[in-house]
Amino acid sequence: MSLPIVAVIGRPNVGKSTLVNRLAISRNAIVHDEPGITRDRTYQPAFWQDRDFLVVDTGGLVFDDDTEFLPLIREQAIAALQEAQAAIFVVDGQTGPSPADEEIAQWLRQQSVPVLLAVNKCESPEQGLIQGAQFWELNLGEPYPLSAIHGNGTGELLDQLITHLPPQEDLPETPPETKVAIVGRPNVGKSTLLNALTGESRAIVSPISGTTRDTIDMVVERNGTTYRLIDTAGIRKKKNVEYGAEFFSINRAFKAIRRSDVVLLVIDAVDGVTEQDQKLANRIMEEGRAAVIIVNKWDAIEKDSYTIYDYEQQVRDRLYFCDWAETLFISAMTGQRVERILELVDRAAESHQRRVTTSVINEVLEDALKRHSPPTTRQGKQGKIYYGTQVSTQPPAIALFVNDPKRFNENYRRYIEKQFRQQLAFPGTPIRFFWRGKK
Ligand code: GDP
Ligand code: GDP
Repeated sequence: MSLPIVAVIGRPNVGKSTLVNRLAISRNAIVHDEPGITRDRTYQPAFWQDRDFLVVDTGGLVFDDDTEFLPLIREQAIAALQEAQAAIFVVDGQTGPSPADEEIAQWLRQQSVPVLLAVNKCESPEQGLIQGAQFWELNLGEPYPLSAIHGNGTGELLDQLITHLPPQEDLPETPPETKVAIVGRPNVGKSTLLNALTGESRAIVSPISGTTRDTIDMVVERNGTTYRLIDTAGIRKKKNVEYGAEFFSINRAFKAIRRSDVVLLVIDAVDGVTEQDQKLANRIMEEGRAAVIIVNKWDAIEKDSYTIYDYEQQVRDRLYFCDWAETLFISAMTGQRVERILELVDRAAESHQRRVTTSVINEVLEDALKRHSPPTTRQGKQGKIYYGTQVSTQPPAIALFVNDPKRFNENYRRYIEKQFRQQLAFPGTPIRFFWRGKK
């Protein structure tokens, strides 16, 4: 999903860049890695209420002057307008409408983009009404008197602006299918689990050939969701003597992880969490996949009231780097809790694709900063976090824009990252964080 773009247009010196800086979250121009936007303009992330967008300053627009570089600016403005979902036309309330404004207005009226008329430099609200009223003659609808320097009046403009932006895609689109990989050491019970999963669902089970020649996927349906179980041929294949079972299965598992959305990491309750399990968990993390930890053969364990707690502790200790994954204790053989697996897969898949608005991210950040301010380095320099924004999904990635990443030690980073985890939850998926300094 790329963010909607708002182009700021107007002749030179009316206060366009001042307004852009006022609307943008940060005063530092940030070049965004959004797909589909042009690199040679500066896009600044902004938000109002729960809506995120990018503002782009177009440079001063002049029509009647054909000195060397002005046509270029004009081209820029036209290009910016083409990709924009809305435009803000800035005029100077202190000088009143000029012939150049008239000309730009005429051009804007021919464009299909909705235009909002910002009458800048209206520091006094009473006078602003009068200053604004002069601009009705531009035929662009209601003039919004405001002051880019002081900030008054911008709220009314933004309230109106966001009604013109396409609705935010807050809810992830339901994917056509969730790709699930079942991985684990030999003999942990993967094929038994596969049988339990495919047998349990009354819906269709059909083998579909996977990406490489000898892989087979199986498709299972439950409550209208389709799950593609990745490389079930690999799961069914009995121990490969020639290559050595361990070597063979781990590479196959790595491939399945890469192709999946959610990984079921199957652990043998009798053996506990082994080094191989840690290796697989590590790979899941590196690949940024969602996961559910399945402790199988729960029937084979002698239990008292502490057993489950001890196991949970063991999983937490040995797979601490996957502490975001939910753990389920099952018996593939007896079917105990097998029916809950796909519920947890759904939850993990949902987190994996979730997008959180910039306003929510910054609420979490503000709260976290209030509780513990960033450390000061030995040279007496303090870290500053300007703002954060989610830059991608699958897995969710959050960029934090800071003055200097070197000023944030491991401890403080972990503290901030933990706050996001606690406040936003994201069960079942890793979250990536990028600490970015000023360019
Ligand atoms: P741009 O060329 O349209 O980008 O305009 P700038 O943002 O560079 O501003 C041009 C001049 O107008 C600067 O001297 C600003 O300080 C001034 N200016 C911008 N906004 C306001 C405002 O809200 N009130 C007043 N009084 N002056 C402003
Ligand atoms: P895979 O190599 O990971 O596919 O493991 P299999 O599904 O072939 O299972 C290996 C062995 O563990 C078989 O003898 C299974 O019967 C046994 N097994 C699998 N699941 C369970 C379970 O939930 N409980 C018990 N007690 N044994 C299981």
